[in-house]
Amino acid sequence: MFKFKHRSFFVSNNDRLRFFSVPSATSVVDSITQHQNCQQTSSNHNTHTRETPNSQFSHSLTSKYYISTLLSCKSLGQIRQVHAQVAVNDMLQDLIVANKLLYVYTRYKYLDDAYSLFCRMEERDSVSWSVMVGGFAKIGDYMNCFGTFRGYIRSGKQPDNYTLPFVIRACRDTTDLQMGRLIHQIVYKFGLHLDRFVSAALVDMYARCRVIEDARQLFDKMQKRDLVSWTVMIGACAECGNASESFVIFDRMRQEGVALDKVAMVTVVNACAKLGTMHNARLVHDYIWRNKFSLDVILGTAMIDMYAKCGSVDSAREIFDRMKERNVISWSAMIAAYGYHGQGREALDLFPMMLRSGVLPNRITFVSLLNACSHAGLVKEGLQFFNSMWEDYSVSPNVKHYTCMVDLLGRAGRLDEALDLIEDMKTVEKDAGLWGALLGACRIHCHIELAEKAAKCLVELQPRNAGHYVLLSNIYAKAGRWEDVAKTRELMIHRKLKKIPGWTWIEVDNMIHRFSVGDSTHPRSREIYEMLKSLSTKVELAGYIPDTNFVLHDVDEELKLGFLYAHSEKLAIAFGLITTPPGTPIRITKNLRVCGDCHTFSKFVSAITHRVIIVRDANRFHHFKEGACSCGDYW
Ligand code: ZN
Ligand code: ZN
Repeated sequence: MFKFKHRSFFVSNNDRLRFFSVPSATSVVDSITQHQNCQQTSSNHNTHTRETPNSQFSHSLTSKYYISTLLSCKSLGQIRQVHAQVAVNDMLQDLIVANKLLYVYTRYKYLDDAYSLFCRMEERDSVSWSVMVGGFAKIGDYMNCFGTFRGYIRSGKQPDNYTLPFVIRACRDTTDLQMGRLIHQIVYKFGLHLDRFVSAALVDMYARCRVIEDARQLFDKMQKRDLVSWTVMIGACAECGNASESFVIFDRMRQEGVALDKVAMVTVVNACAKLGTMHNARLVHDYIWRNKFSLDVILGTAMIDMYAKCGSVDSAREIFDRMKERNVISWSAMIAAYGYHGQGREALDLFPMMLRSGVLPNRITFVSLLNACSHAGLVKEGLQFFNSMWEDYSVSPNVKHYTCMVDLLGRAGRLDEALDLIEDMKTVEKDAGLWGALLGACRIHCHIELAEKAAKCLVELQPRNAGHYVLLSNIYAKAGRWEDVAKTRELMIHRKLKKIPGWTWIEVDNMIHRFSVGDSTHPRSREIYEMLKSLSTKVELAGYIPDTNFVLHDVDEELKLGFLYAHSEKLAIAFGLITTPPGTPIRITKNLRVCGDCHTFSKFVSAITHRVIIVRDANRFHHFKEGACSCGDYW
């Protein structure tokens, strides 16, 4: 046991603090307890003197002293020393001091020490519980966070608007909806549902757990919405695939005169990137310009991504060129932008420029570069980058880089090399994306055996993802293995898996029109089908043969319905043709990968109508112009 110098700490002297060695918290407290027992038996009058007025005054002084000392602590050693002194001087019973000790331990993430102290505290108030719950939440120890919160409720104390957001955010981070709903009930029970911090956290939690309706309901009921809630709602709608709703909220926010900060602005820009419509991109850009937001690295980079995803790589480049400061993320975003649009050469040209500007590439840069190579079929260049990333830039490849390489080699038909690469991955864990890339390549090159292997790995890794089963069954269908097709379908039915419905949207006159396969719900449906019919006649005359055997589609619902000619992409294009002036580009977005037949059809339509058709699918952009696509039929 180490010795304490009684009251020696009153000399505010760091050297004196260092006088103590740094034992662990438990040993400190053990020693303290023993020491206290010892003191109590030897001199009982100590306890007595604490009750005199003078002593009370000195006690409060001491309490203030400890609090300020604790707040100036910078290391675990210092905190433990003060903790020891506090214990020696019987100040642990001072709840304010004890709570402050708890707080500094949690502030520096020494949760073991904090918890040990917490367990030994004879008295705990709401602050003690809150600090502990928040401490666990901050370090991501959610199990203990929930456990402590349970203890808090059982202790009969009322949780406050400080603690609840911590627990709710823990539910959000773990996407534990069940726990989230339970906490929501507690919120109601204690009448805190109108508190803006609590309700903002709840909105955020529901949004992150993708229960967007509940999030929206709460959001609409909020009496006072802070900027955080607005931002959360805009971001959540976009995340849940309803980016157009993000814009409804953004409009409402502007009408209510809520001023956006940089974080909110970036969220809106990101939502616009998800929505992918040029009209909204220009609207957001205009808002940014009018409200004099500075085009810093974060906002500028988000805007590059937005324009790239809205189909205008040139506007993305304009933003990029106007940015005064660019970091590695901005360069990587611009490289990625060229990559999406199949402009591999332009992407690669940026790399030496980036190096010349003194920015070193990181993992994201190499993902962008390899993707660009893959989309443009630049195999040699891709292999060079892959080899040099570690050798020249000390960036070790992760599963994303391997995935890009598998994609690159696979698309080029070098499937054996792709498989070799996968088998060489000793230290990097293989994920669904990697096998998905291999499967995609097998799909293009009709390599049944390898496709089967990849699909089986995928099904094993993600047994609930219906897309993998669909791909596998499509590959079997292409090979005419109808029995295997049936077996795969049966497995899907048995596992009660649902396929993602395919849909395409197009923006005309600031309105978004959404189409599903064989859709006849649109008010102008009759005209759309008439246009489609006349288009079909014209493209067939030009040499287009409908690929009725086209089974390589992520969503086969469309085929089952026998509506090959009424695929959502085709409906959207037909609608675009009847509603937009001749010569203007038609921009459509598909939630899944564009199907082969629609791809061929779009090429023909672009030729006979002399329209540029820009299709954004789940993977990339296709620019159809005069009968050719920017992807070089390589997607
Ligand atoms: Zn199609
Ligand atoms: Zn294409």
